[in-house]
Amino acid sequence: TKIIAFESSADETSVAIVEDGHKVLSNSVATQINSHQRFGGIVPEVASRHHIEWISRVLDDALDQAQVKPDELDAVAVTYGPGLVGSLLVGLMGAKTFALAHDLPIIPVNHLAGHIAAANFNQPIQYPALALMVSGGHTELVLMPKQNQFQVLGETRDDAAGESFDKIGRLLGLAYPAGKEIDEMAHRGTAQMKFPTAMAHEDNYDFSFSGLKSAVINYVHHAQQKNETIDVDDLACAFQNAVVDALVGRTQKALAHYPVRSFILAGGVAANSQLREALQTMLVEFSETTYIPVPIQYSGDNAAMIGAAGFWNYQDHVFAGLDLNTNPGLDFELGEF
Ligand code: ATP
Ligand code: MG
Ligand code: FE
Repeated sequence: TKIIAFESSADETSVAIVEDGHKVLSNSVATQINSHQRFGGIVPEVASRHHIEWISRVLDDALDQAQVKPDELDAVAVTYGPGLVGSLLVGLMGAKTFALAHDLPIIPVNHLAGHIAAANFNQPIQYPALALMVSGGHTELVLMPKQNQFQVLGETRDDAAGESFDKIGRLLGLAYPAGKEIDEMAHRGTAQMKFPTAMAHEDNYDFSFSGLKSAVINYVHHAQQKNETIDVDDLACAFQNAVVDALVGRTQKALAHYPVRSFILAGGVAANSQLREALQTMLVEFSETTYIPVPIQYSGDNAAMIGAAGFWNYQDHVFAGLDLNTNPGLDFELGEF
């Protein structure tokens, strides 16, 4: 089964062709990060215009790279949420147009399911599975009793993990998005202080990162007032330690309560080297559970992951008509399409 997938929920315009949910035949990604950097975040209007400009080129490129003709395809998968409405609309229009032109069925895909399904590019997922979904907009522990079934055990009450990296990056004058750079700085630094890890003792699986953000901001302002210089690498190290501790701690608690066969690390923050390692170390105590981090090249936004999740819906006969609309606030609890 060959699925062509469209992704345009944020600042990546991407089209991919994926076979049977795990074999990537092509994955063309155009990123517009440079256009948003001077604003320190995504500007919705700018993002939509970029998507419009890039979508046909990315589509041609995906077909070219895969050496696949439209009549060899079985379905068109597309992200319909969550994300920016103006951005989502471009991918959705592209997908609908392509489906209509080539008489293909449309598969609606939840972007977050896509992040998780990208684990298939590492190895097959065994169920039940638990996923830690950490991205720019979301931080959730998701239990999957079966393929394509999602139950949110806990989520962030304020900032997402990736968002906290980006906000601290902004404080330190780093370019957006700052996750990768803070990751590298943290490696060079040593933690001279310990920031609080929120909610470690609470009886739930939720996260909170705004207290940590405030603690770091206060620390920096305090140092500035006293005219002390800060070693930013050390600061990055202490900040990252706190984020990783919080994520690993909640995950450990969930695994102890819900024994699973696979544990998936997914979303843009899954690229974080310290998080990947700390989870691997923690998982030693869960010998029945296989660790499946999404390969770094597929952890950020891309259409291949939408093709992977699209195949799950294809197997479950989840299709949509040409009246499919965007759902910018889509999450797992709100019900699958
Ligand atoms: P969502 O998926 O919730 O809609 P999004 O699609 O914008 O949000 P992703 O593209 O999945 O988010 O992830 C981007 C985030 O990942 C950014 O916040 C970025 O800083 C973060 N990130 C990328 N690499 C790293 C890294 N090595 N360490 C920490 N964070 C990282
Ligand atoms: Mg992105
Ligand atoms: Fe994403």
